[in-house]
Formats: sequence, C-alpha cells, structure tokens
Amino acid sequence: MNWIVHKFGGSSLADARAFEHVVGLMTAESGARRQAVVVSAMQGTTDALIDLAERAAGDAADWPEAFEALRSRHLECATMLGLEPEAIEPMAVSFRRLRHLLESFGLLGSVPEEALELVSALGEQWSARLLDGAFRARGQASRFVDAREVIRIRRGELGPIALLDDSRKRLAAITNDAPDRLVVTGFCCRDEQGRIATLGRDGSDFTATILAALLDAGEVQIWTDVDGVLNADPGRVPNAQVIERLSYREAFELAYFGARVLHPQTLSPLLQRDVPVRIRSTRHPDRPGTLIDRAGSGTPPVKGMTAIRDLALVNIEGAGMLGVPGTAERVFATLHRGAISVTMISQGSSEHSICCVVPAVDADRARQLLSEAFAREIDAGQLQAVRQEDRIEVLAAVGDGMAGAPGVAGRLFGALGRAGVNVRAIAQGSSERNISIAVTRDQSERALRALHAAFYLSRHSLSIGVIGPGQVGRALLGQLRDAAPRLAETAGLDLQIRAVANSRAMVLDDAQVSDVAMAGDLSAGEPLDYERLAAHVRAERLPHAVLIDCTASDVPPTRYVEWLEAGIHVITPNKQAGAGDLERYRKLRRLDADGPARWRYEATVGAGLPVVQTLRDLVDSGDRVDSIEGIFSGTLAWLFNRFEPGMTFSGLVREAHDAGYTEPDPADDLSGMDVARKLVILGRELGLPLTLDAIEIDPLLPTADLSGAEAVFDALPEMDEAMSRRLEAARAAGGCLRYTARLASDGSARVGLEQLPGDHPFAHLALTDNVVAFRTRRYCDNPLIVQGPGAGPDVTAAGVFSDLLRIAQSLG
Ligand code: ADP
Ligand code: ASP
Ligand code: MG
Repeated sequence: MNWIVHKFGGSSLADARAFEHVVGLMTAESGARRQAVVVSAMQGTTDALIDLAERAAGDAADWPEAFEALRSRHLECATMLGLEPEAIEPMAVSFRRLRHLLESFGLLGSVPEEALELVSALGEQWSARLLDGAFRARGQASRFVDAREVIRIRRGELGPIALLDDSRKRLAAITNDAPDRLVVTGFCCRDEQGRIATLGRDGSDFTATILAALLDAGEVQIWTDVDGVLNADPGRVPNAQVIERLSYREAFELAYFGARVLHPQTLSPLLQRDVPVRIRSTRHPDRPGTLIDRAGSGTPPVKGMTAIRDLALVNIEGAGMLGVPGTAERVFATLHRGAISVTMISQGSSEHSICCVVPAVDADRARQLLSEAFAREIDAGQLQAVRQEDRIEVLAAVGDGMAGAPGVAGRLFGALGRAGVNVRAIAQGSSERNISIAVTRDQSERALRALHAAFYLSRHSLSIGVIGPGQVGRALLGQLRDAAPRLAETAGLDLQIRAVANSRAMVLDDAQVSDVAMAGDLSAGEPLDYERLAAHVRAERLPHAVLIDCTASDVPPTRYVEWLEAGIHVITPNKQAGAGDLERYRKLRRLDADGPARWRYEATVGAGLPVVQTLRDLVDSGDRVDSIEGIFSGTLAWLFNRFEPGMTFSGLVREAHDAGYTEPDPADDLSGMDVARKLVILGRELGLPLTLDAIEIDPLLPTADLSGAEAVFDALPEMDEAMSRRLEAARAAGGCLRYTARLASDGSARVGLEQLPGDHPFAHLALTDNVVAFRTRRYCDNPLIVQGPGAGPDVTAAGVFSDLLRIAQSLG
C-alpha cells in the first residue's frame, strides 16, 4: 500500500484538544494509504527551549520555573489525552535528562552548539510521543519514530542537504514490520558524523518531504493554521487570499523570500519525483488549500508577495567602476570570504554603483570588508566611501507567468509610486520568476499592501481624515459611511475614516472613528494637533491617505503644502487656498502635478456640479476658453429669483436668513466676495494669474466693510429704494435682475448685479440653482452650460465625494 505523509505544525498542536482533533482528522483519512505523520513541537515550545537553554547558561534564577511550566504543560496534556503510563514514561525520562543538561549549561556558562541542537528539538520528541500515545490509547495502530535515527544530512552553505540513500536504509529497517501509521518527530536529524542536528527553524516541513522521498509517498499534506499559502503574509496584508496552485519553484521563491508557511528547503527532495504537496488548514479541513506540484499554473502571473525583514543595504559607487570588468566579482568574493550571504544584488544600468542587501547583523562587517577590499580605489577617489543603510526589507513579487507577461514590472512600480514608496534598489532574477525590491522598513507594509491591491484587486485601503464636521463635513461623513459597503463590494475600495477634527479637538482611531465622532461630537477626543493628525492619517501600513478640509477657515490651507509633500491627498470645498495667495496656489498646483499626492477642490465652485472638472477637460483637450460667466451663489440666485415688485430687498434677505439660506453672517453672501473667490478659482484654472483684488466687485451692501447680521440688517434698508427702482426698470424692459460673475480670457473679471433680458439663459433658474456658461472656440455659437443645485450640505458633500472617487480611480 502506498504511503502518504502528513505534517502538523506547532500551530495545529497547541493543547490536548488540538491533538484530539488531529487524531480525528487522521482517523478519517486512514484506510486507503499508510500514514507517516510528522509533528512539530507544541506551539511555542521551540522558542521556549532555546530561551531556557540560554537562561540556564546565564545562570538566570528563574529558569527552573520556566522548565517546570514546560514539563507540566506536556505531562498534563498526556494525562488529558489518556496516555498509558508506559507511553508517558519516556517523556518523563526526557524531562529529567533535560534538567541535568540545563544544570550543566549553568556550570559551563554557555550552551555548546550540539547541545543546543539537541535541546531545541526536544519539543518534537514530546509531541510525537503525545500523538503516538493518543492513537494507541484509542486502540489505533501507530508507531513512534525518532527521526534522529533515520534522517542524515550534510550541512551545506544554503542549508542542510538530505542524504537520501543513507537515510532510506535506516528507515527500511524500521518500516519492515511497521503498522500502517508512523508518528515521526519533525525538525531533528543527525549529520554525517552522527551528531545531533536540526533542519533549521520551521524544519518539520522539510522532514515531511524528506520522508516522502524515502517512502516513495504519493502525496504530502502540510496542515497548518491558515487556509493554504496566501498571496501575502496575512499578518501584514489583512485581505490576503489563498493561492490555488503553485509550481515547486514558485513555492520555493515565496518561502525563500519570507513566506513563513513553508520552510524554503521543503520542496527540494521532491523536485525529481513529482510528488504533489498540499497545504491544508487544520481548522477548515473541508477547504481545498494550496496544491504545489511541478506544473503549477500559469495564471495569475504574480502568485504572491513576500518580504524579508531585518536587512541592510551596502552600496559602493563611483566613476571608477565604469567599464571596469570584475568589480562585481570582487564585491561578491569579499562578502563570500566574510561568510555574509547576499539576499539581493542590484547594479545600476550605468554600472556606476553596486548595491547589496545583506542581513542587518552582518551589515557593519560587510561595509568594513568592502572598505578594506576597495581601499586603494577609495583613496584614489575612483570610488566613494562604502555607504550603509539600515532598516531595509526586501519585498519580492513571485510568479512563473511574469516572464511572458509584459507590463508586470510597470504595474508593480506604478503601484509603488502611487503609494509614495521610495524604492531603494531593484533586482529581477534571471529566471524572471521574481522581482525583488528593497524598501525601508517603515514603508514596507504600505508597499506590500499597495502591491497586493494592484495585483489581486484586493481592496484599496484609503485612510481618511475629515477636518470640520460642520454641515458639509457631517453630510460627507454620512455619505462615506453609507456608501462604504457598496464601494467595497463593487469598486474594491476600503474607506477607513480614521480621524475627525475641528478647530479645537480631534478623534483618532486605528480603524474607524465612532459614530458619535462622525456626528461631530469630539468631546471624547484630544486637543487638535495638526502634526499628529497628519501622521496618524498617513499610517505607514495603509498605502493611501486623504485629508478632507471641510472648513471655511484659512488655517488648514496653510498645511496643504506639507500634507501634499508627505503624500497625503487633499480634498476640499474650502476656497481659501484656491483663491488665496498666488504663490502658494502655484506651489500647490505644482505639487499636485508632480508630487506624490493630488489636490482636488471640485466643490469650491457650484458645490456638486462638475464645474472645475469640465473646465479642466476643456483646457486639457486643447479648447480655447474665451469667457466664463454665471451665477455662482445659491443664496443670491434665490434672492433674485424671489425678488418681486412690492417687496423690500432687506425684508427678503431677512426671510432668507431666517430660513437658513444665507451664511450666518449675510455679509458673506452680499459682499460678493464668495462669488469673486469662485471666479478667481476658475480664472486660475485657465492659467490666468488672477487675484481677488483684481476683480471688480459690486457688493450688495451700502458700505463695503459691514459685517455681522445685526449690522447688516440695520444698514440694509438704506438700499431698499434703489433696489426696487432697479427691479422696476428691469421689468419694464422685459428683463430681470441677476447677480452674475464674468471673466474674459484677457483676465478682466467682474462680479455684480446686472439687468438681463428675459430670454437670457440665466433668467430662468429655479431656487438656488447655479449656472456656469463656458464660451470657447468649440462652444462659440452656443456656450457649454452647467446648471443645477449649487448650494446645500448634501450636494457640496457629493462634490467632495466625487473628488475622492476620482483619486481612488487613479490609484489603479
Ligand atoms: P506551522 O506551525 O503550522 O508550521 P507556521 O507558523 O510555521 O505554522 O506557518 C504558518 C504561518 O505563516 C501562518 O499562520 C501565517 O501567519 C504565516 N505566513 C506568512 N506568510 C504567509 C503566506 N504567504 N501564506 C500563508 N501563511 C503565511
Ligand atoms: N519546532 C520547530 C520550529 O519552531 C520546527 C517546526 O516547527 O517546523 O522552528
Ligand atoms: Mg512552520
């Protein structure tokens, strides 16, 4: 009968219940094939053993306590599993011996290497005894096999190499009369000299495939606590997904580049044999898991992303390298002599620099060795001093299909660029199965998530902060919250509202701020601190950040430059920046065009109407805009739609104020400043260097510097008579009064009350409608008109939302 090898990781062997579960799983699978069940140590045991050995050698007073905890955990588990006394005895003996060993480490003051190998793999002895005993206590066939009596290895530079012929003979002696189930200790083995050795951390996976080769097994199943090999580390990319099928080589690259789920050497014994490996979940045994075999599958082209941590970068550069053959070889020979393994090498196409990524612990040594090796060239100024950069991680995108798929690299670097990740070095293996990218540690998680989102349509996470939960801000927060589930589903967008702030306080949250905060109540928050706010929203782990300024204040706009420079997108209905200081405006536009983040302000003109975007499209598509005119104030539109002979203008303003149609201070509307600001924003969109003071403004106030509702209502009746006369004159001519804004392409701009003929397009507006007419080279006979509701919290918030969606779209 054919063999199948199963392996259970420590994550599947936490306690007696877990062993019980494994017994159940294996029982359900038994019958058709003989089972070799390889086990890791119980969860956490290997770390605990290594720590124990070190503490005993350091004479720490508390090691006996830690020892006792380990012993009782295992012996209690044995009792709970109902092991026979003769099955428990070998474990008890092992613990007694361990205690003597630990005492001897104390005497020595150190842990000899071989002793450490022995001690660190004791957990596998115990867990195999536990599982074997559990089978037998339930009347099932089982035999305990100590892999140290079977597996022989040679220590190679790239890790242990299994000596299969030697090992096979030893195993044959055991399996001759064996029952249909073996329970085998993972991780441990012996070297050629017969000294106790291990297969390296996570080595039980390797034990399983070595056994499969020795037994000519038909299949290997590796049972763990995730549903299979995922396309990214689930600890760093929360929406990582299971990969259905991988080739041996893909699995190797993923494991080598840090996917903890598989020991990198695991597949080497199977390469010649075509034995499939399945990674399965102990928790969800019904799920298919990941199939790893020789063929794999060509799609998708990028199977997964991984990261190796704790690295450093050593860079050597200078004109002296140009065209000089052998420099790269000298670099490697030097590092090789220092036994420093190089994770990644990248040489600029200019041959001007060579950059090596090495383990962080070796970085200082690597720099020194290279400085010595190239001392002559450095002294002569042909090369610059060797540079070292710490805190580096290497990310790798892995997939067989990358070779034939054009554009993969472009997509990869595009995604990193949009996420504002600074790439330190790049290497593509000659197999084209792997693109490796060195980034700094603080950016690595963001980079991983951005890559993952770009390739697997996993959700694009947007970290959002809203400043100013007033009428517009609250409406926006409501819209964001309501739309979030649908956007997650249909557009793959994950909107995380992680901050809300007003001028005094802010509420920050790692996931989503509370409903109370979204309703504008920030009493549970902390004092406003713009730096902390920006840093929080620009969370390193989330690829994209947006700050939305829903205030009318000129304080947040003073921060836009620094936010954009930090890679935070800025969206606002606030006109202060768009119509304010021209130098700052230009800087913001430059940053928007060339920098890492976008600045969007569609809702500054016409609220939710697509005014700014329409104008941009005209300009970008090469049209020439000759004039822009319109009614830009919902309040003033309402006033003049309603103004009838017999009414007083001041009475009408009071009515509008009481109904909430004006700003709290009606002077803000009547002064014409708000309209003028909008005109400045549109004029600048045309490339005109327009400023507020260049606009001719005709205010609807008797004196220009009036402010405050009381003062306005005191003074306004002064104008009633004149306003009524103008209205009558307009009516007599068959026309109407409208408060309009006009801009010509030469930059002349005017805002004020006008008499318009009755058939003018602006004469027939409803309620608070805004209207903008663009007269251009293409739209010359008939202007392009954008018209509709142009005021109110909901439509303004909708304009802001559309900016957010447009930015999200551009993320790819
Ligand atoms: P076991 O004890 O079963 O051997 P490990 O802890 O060694 O389990 O490996 C499984 C763990 O590897 C998972 O819980 C997961 O956190 C981590 N991991 C890292 N990268 C990946 C990946 N790409 N796919 C699946 N798991 C991964
Ligand atoms: N117990 C060992 C470790 O923790 C081997 C393994 O679990 O695969 O590294
Ligand atoms: Mg493991």
